[in-house]
Amino acid sequence: MTELERACESFRILMEEQQARIAKMQAEKVDFSKKDTVTIGLVDGDGIGPLIMNQAVKVLETLLADEIAAGKIILKRIEGLTIENRLAKNQPVPTEVLAEIKTCDVLLKGPTTTPMGGKMESANVTLRRELDLYANVRPVSIPGEGIDWMFYRENTEGEYVLGSRGVELPGMAVDFKVTTDAGTRRIARAAFDYARQNGKNRVSIVTKANIMKKTDGKFTAICHEVAAEYPEISVDDWYIDIMTANLVNPAIRNQFQVMVMPNLYGDIITDEAAQIQGGVGTAGSANIGDRYAMFEAIHGSAPRMLEEGLGDYANPSSILKAEAMLLRHICRGAAAEKLENALENCKTVVTGDRSGATGAQFTEDLMMLL
Ligand code: NAD
Repeated sequence: MTELERACESFRILMEEQQARIAKMQAEKVDFSKKDTVTIGLVDGDGIGPLIMNQAVKVLETLLADEIAAGKIILKRIEGLTIENRLAKNQPVPTEVLAEIKTCDVLLKGPTTTPMGGKMESANVTLRRELDLYANVRPVSIPGEGIDWMFYRENTEGEYVLGSRGVELPGMAVDFKVTTDAGTRRIARAAFDYARQNGKNRVSIVTKANIMKKTDGKFTAICHEVAAEYPEISVDDWYIDIMTANLVNPAIRNQFQVMVMPNLYGDIITDEAAQIQGGVGTAGSANIGDRYAMFEAIHGSAPRMLEEGLGDYANPSSILKAEAMLLRHICRGAAAEKLENALENCKTVVTGDRSGATGAQFTEDLMMLL
């Protein structure tokens, strides 16, 4: 077999796998208001992960103390999702760690380091796929400027689903981007449902459909089909390049409300949005599926902060915002509101360097406001 024939054969296998994935996409949503016990998995991650998770767990234990004592909430520490263990096992999420994770309803997770180069997939991409966490939900708000954005990023497809399965031939490399009808329909529905349930009257679809004609073309068309079921909500189309500019244009940026987009664009533009809000250390993120959900900071493990001895200065606001989203997701609205109010009112500033407070000082001050 020539290298070209081998590449074509591996392409055929990839396409068959993707067709099989579509067939498995339907699941029933968990109704947390009807569950007697909820198990929250706690996963530290790498780098600054354990440091910010420590703060987040203190707050969670305080907010849910009564329900933990009554056995209605179980906090379950899950070890082993570390870069050392993943490299030793040569698995992005070691089998036994994944099995533990699947015994939980929801996860609060610290950031995980992804090895550069090589073949190993990111732990997050693996978890999003294995737990079918199709909606990456990222809020960004700056009340003083009238900015209240909610990003709905498709989380299981696009460039990521086969990101570690690309093909190399002499002198060239090819990666693949996959967009499915079912995958797009469910993220579009999640975005429009959010808009309807939260009194938003505008959803913006963000793609690069002028260039990615098949995949982003499909994404746009299906979002419009779904939009037709929500006649009270206006819908508009933007290309990712101009939307990236729009977010730094004070003349129009506060007019955007809910944005829905394929995976890669969402990954990039939400970091930009977080920076506008005050830095990646200030932004939380939810990965929602029908059965499982995972809540985390939008940033990574920040190895440079550790190298510079700045770990204690990592801002836990990111993971605490994610924690508030987790509490809402499991129908603990009162606890979520307490945490959101405390986050809004806490005046202690963490800058990520020695000019600001440490994460522990911030959490101590925040807990006085709970
Ligand atoms: P990063 O997001 O880890 O950090 C970039 C910079 O942002 C840091 O050097 C720091 O200056 C600042 N920062 C990040 N978090 C902060 C916080 N809580 N408080 C204050 N400042 C903060 O980006 P990176 O260095 O490109 O990525 C490091 C690793 O994390 C990579 O291996 C990457 O793949 C991984 N990653 C993981 C996730 C995840 O697990 N969800 C997300 C993104 C990146």
